[in-house]
This record gives sequence, C-alpha cells and structure tokens, in this order.
Amino acid sequence: MSHQNLAVDVEAIRDEFPILEREFDGQQVVYLDNAATTQTPDPVVDAMSDYYRESNANVHRGIHHLSQEASEAYEVAHDRVAEFIGADGREEVVFTKNTTESENLLAYSWGLNELEPGDEVVLTEMEHHASLVTWQQIAKRTGASVEYVRVDEDGRLDMDHARELIGDDTAIVSAVHVSNTLGTINPVAELTELAHEHDALSFIDGAQAVPNQPVDVKEIGADFYAFSGHKMAGPTGIGVLYGKRELLEAMEPYLYGGGMIRKVTFEDSTWGELPWKFEPGTPPIAEAVGLHAAVDWLEEIGMERIRDHEQELARYAYEQLESEGDVEIYGPEPGADRGGLVSFNVEGVHAHDLTSILNDHTVAIRAGDHCTQPLHDKLGVAASARASFYVYNTREEVDKLVAALDDARQLFA
Ligand code: PLP
Repeated sequence: MSHQNLAVDVEAIRDEFPILEREFDGQQVVYLDNAATTQTPDPVVDAMSDYYRESNANVHRGIHHLSQEASEAYEVAHDRVAEFIGADGREEVVFTKNTTESENLLAYSWGLNELEPGDEVVLTEMEHHASLVTWQQIAKRTGASVEYVRVDEDGRLDMDHARELIGDDTAIVSAVHVSNTLGTINPVAELTELAHEHDALSFIDGAQAVPNQPVDVKEIGADFYAFSGHKMAGPTGIGVLYGKRELLEAMEPYLYGGGMIRKVTFEDSTWGELPWKFEPGTPPIAEAVGLHAAVDWLEEIGMERIRDHEQELARYAYEQLESEGDVEIYGPEPGADRGGLVSFNVEGVHAHDLTSILNDHTVAIRAGDHCTQPLHDKLGVAASARASFYVYNTREEVDKLVAALDDARQLFA
C-alpha cells in the first residue's frame, strides 16, 4: 500500500488495531463508520486491562492502597482531559456517560432552573438529536421557545440568519461544532461571540470535533462543551462536559447520591467540590483510565496531522464519489471547513440497500438519518449513506467503497 502523501504513518498506526485485520468471508474489514464509534488502539486497551489487573478498586479516596491508586488514576484523567482541551483544570471537566448525557446534564441542571417563558434557545438546523430533542423537551417544560439557525444550500450555517435570531431574548446558543451528517465545521467561536454580545450562554456539541482536530475551549470561548470517549479512540461509557468553573459552581447537580456531597443530615444535604458534585455514584473508572490513554495516544500523533489526514481522505472520497455521476453528496465542498466524513446517496438505490451491499464487501458504513431527522427532511431524503474516516483509514479503502457501488447499482438501480 502507498500512503506516502498522507499526513501520518498509517501502516504503523494500523499495527495497533488488530480489529482492522479481521476478515469476514475471506475479505478484510474496511471500517468507515468512525463518526459512530472509532476503533480502540492497543495502548488504550492495555491501559484499561492493566488497571483491572493491578489497580481496580472503588474511588473516592478509600484508605487502602488500591483505592488510593484508583482514585489517583481517576482524578488525573480529569487533569489530562482538561489539558487536552485547554480547560482551566479538573474542576471544569465533568465525566459523564457520553455526549448525550453531557447535554442532558446541562439542559436539566441549568436549563430547567434558568429558562422561563419568553426565553429563546437558539439551535441550528444541523443539530444532532442529542441536543435538539433535549432542548425541545426542556423548552416545553419551562415555556421557552426554540429557534433554528438555517443551513444554506451549500450545507453551511447562514450566519446572517444567526445574527438575526440571536438577540436579547436568547438565553443559550447550542450549536454542533462539526456536523455528523454534513461534515461542516461551524464557526463556533463566532456563534459564541454573538451569544455573549447578548448576555446569552453558548454550548458546543463537540462530539465530531474533539476526536478529529485541535480544540481549545478557551479559544472558542464556549461556556459549555461536550464530547464522547468512544469517538476518539477511547472506550464507550465515558463522555465529558466542560463548563466554565463559575457557571458549574452556580449550577445544581443533575443526579444525586454518594460521592458528590459535602454534608448530609436527615433534613438536607450540601454538595462537594467540582467536578465531583456532578459525578455521583461509582464513576466510569477504567473508562477514565482508557480516555486518558486515548488522549496520550492522539497527542503523540498530533491533532493537526490527524485533521489533515482525515480531510485529505474526505476530499479524495468526495472527488471519487462526485466523478461517479449518479451520486448526490451532502454538505460543503472539500475545504478548510469540512471534516472527515461524506454523506451521500446513489440515484435509485436506498441508503440501507447500499449499505447492505457494501457490507457484502466488508465495507462498513452507516445508513439512516444519523440522528438528524429534521435536517434530512430539509435535504428531502429519508436517509443517507455516510462514510466517515479516522487516522487509520487509507485511500485504498475509499477505492474499495467506490468500487462496491457498482454491485448496488446492478441490483437496485
Ligand atoms: N452529537 C453529535 C454531533 C454526534 O455525532 C453524536 C453521535 O453520533 C452525538 C452527539 C451523541 O454521542 P453519544 O452517542 O456518544 O452520546
């Protein structure tokens, strides 16, 4: 295989992913479903299995050695994540189950208590259901209204519309950093600035950004920012809600229980320090160790190089698919504001049928609405096929995807 034009040493990287060697019916798997979940490299798996073999215990500073070790590992993982995204320390990094739970934490804890009739929650038309559905429900319960910044013909946010919508009634602007359907990289710093000009807060859904490009939450200026471990070479079961310290301090917990309290009496309770105030019960300890290892692993390669590699693959895929003539591609043309995924439809072939035929070639992609149903309604399609790339993918894999389309045409078109 020739990867000399790529930004990273793909062959060396692939050696750390035994799963990529797997074969089904004698054909090696081509894994292009990374926007859903990325694969996990050996160093991350090893860190988690070492933890279980050597340090496993409950956290919260038990007196014995193993609990001390587990607590230390769990706490230090917060520090490492804080450093990775440019946060001011572990107090600003809350571990959750995933991006979805991070969004719910914010919506229940801040939204339910702060929103009132007349307030506006400004979303975009390309939000994932994780934020769209959550804010809809919280708005219903508080009497707030929900507005959507339009997506234009090219798959970008209409920033003139954003400037019209975001005003003095806006309480929070909630925007996806990188669209999991269109691949668009949104101007989230600009959206945050607009929100702040009107004394509103900003929440950025970074599920498709943190895994794939450098992200500095302070540079963006976001008040809150969320992402998931399993989309960034880390384990499932852990996600992150970043929040500015003073805002998190002012917020009520969303879940209650042990490990998050300062003092409990029969009458009432008070809350512990950040971030533990938002992390009741036994947390995802091994997963935190895995996320720490994933961050180390990603930084060793370098987030700029990962971004460049994925953008190059997405450009290649876009061009190959476009040259087929009967493929409709969604989202902006390849460029600086397009990330490493391509959603498309082949004329006359349903996305599910296409994906099933690709699976016969062991090419793994995703079909559906990608949890962006209203956006698909706007695009005028019920579903799309989505190929999404990570640091271990190659151009040869894109070629296999494109070559397999012919079979689907013969059967269905
Ligand atoms: N937001 C975006 C943009 C996503 O792509 C996803 C997952 O696909 C999510 C939120 C939800 O992530 P999770 O399922 O890890 O909670």
